[in-house]
Amino acid sequence: MPEKFRLVMLGPLGVGKSALTVKYLTQKYITDYDPYIDGKYSKLDIVGHEPVLARVWDTYAHPGSYTELEKYIKWSDAMIVVYSTTSKESFEAAQTYLKHIHVHFRNKGLETQPIMLVGNKRDLDRYREVDFYEGQEMADRFHCLFQESSARGNVNAVYSVFHNTIKQIQQERAFSRAEPSSAMTIEPISSTGSLPKSLSRRSKATSKSTGTSPKPLKKSSSTFKIFNKGFRLFT
Ligand code: GDP
Ligand code: MG
Repeated sequence: MPEKFRLVMLGPLGVGKSALTVKYLTQKYITDYDPYIDGKYSKLDIVGHEPVLARVWDTYAHPGSYTELEKYIKWSDAMIVVYSTTSKESFEAAQTYLKHIHVHFRNKGLETQPIMLVGNKRDLDRYREVDFYEGQEMADRFHCLFQESSARGNVNAVYSVFHNTIKQIQQERAFSRAEPSSAMTIEPISSTGSLPKSLSRRSKATSKSTGTSPKPLKKSSSTFKIFNKGFRLFT
């Protein structure tokens, strides 16, 4: 039986979570589907010469609901947080997700999971509102992997998003097997929104929590908007 990898797609509505999921599963760019779909899918795949069973949960955004987010995090081995390069607002919403995820791990005192930040719709370059370096910078602050992608473009770039996320889980599992006592605790987020170094990767040194009480989760109305600017021009 191939090893199982559970990936959850998170991000505001309209950034391309479903389009990326469908492209990964079928190699096709499909435009006609229910935008409110929330479903789990499986794909047998090969990653790094190993057969894997990828389970993908394509979610419908509920960023204001901590219960929903907690449910997704509990289920997953890694999270793929998506924004659209054509929408600054979606980029800010992605940051809200990353902060909420951090709060979750800090509150629970749990080991963090790999997170892949994805700037999607890079094919719509004339509508770009978020530069590559801004995505990279946010990924660095939150210690995430980072890629730009297009569900409309070459399938290999979409594969690489999923494969690199799975590879990160493989590495962390290998690390846990090698050093089972290397659990981390989580420090509070800084005022600049960046995560402490200890949250980055398990290969880094462990550190103690400072015990600061968590900030309450804020509901972000911006995260419920639709971010598909310019899309119709291309269909
Ligand atoms: P979700 O709400 O995050 O699941 O977003 P969807 O996958 O439903 O995509 C929202 C809209 O953006 C749809 O009309 C998609 O066809 C379109 N879309 C998604 N990804 C891309 C992309 O990479 N490029 C372009 N041009 N359009 C995209
Ligand atoms: Mg969707």
